[in-house]
Amino acid sequence: MRLAIGEAADAASEGNAPIGCVLTKGDQVVERGHNQVFTEHDITAHAEVVGIRKLTKRIKSFDLREYTLYSTFIPCAMCVATVLRTDIRRVVYGAEARDAPQFSRGIHSQANNRILALASKKVKFIPRVLRDDCAQLLSKARSD
Ligand SMILES: [Zn+2]
Repeated sequence: MRLAIGEAADAASEGNAPIGCVLTKGDQVVERGHNQVFTEHDITAHAEVVGIRKLTKRIKSFDLREYTLYSTFIPCAMCVATVLRTDIRRVVYGAEARDAPQFSRGIHSQANNRILALASKKVKFIPRVLRDDCAQLLSKARSD
């Protein structure tokens, strides 16, 4: 998670939302990503999607069942859908929606809560890992 926080800091220094992720396989970090929404003018360039895109492109497979995603912020509906489509079984995240209301418009929605509840039948979510550190960067940032 500390590496994901480093990615979040990189995102912030570029002017993006301070959200980062890493993907691991076993005990190896195999990919990193950070939010690039503003710099890429791409609303889908959330940290999780960026990391997953880089990994699937590199390994030429959408089957990520052996990988764990670490994100500094609770994944939104789009990112959860991407997790499901790639069969990731474990997601570890830091900050929760209430830690950063300016980023939580969609995350607080009923639809998003429903998607997370449905996804949790297939994906193990491990919340609040280094939550304060993850939330600290978010508290100072503008939203996308
Ligand atoms: Zn997202």
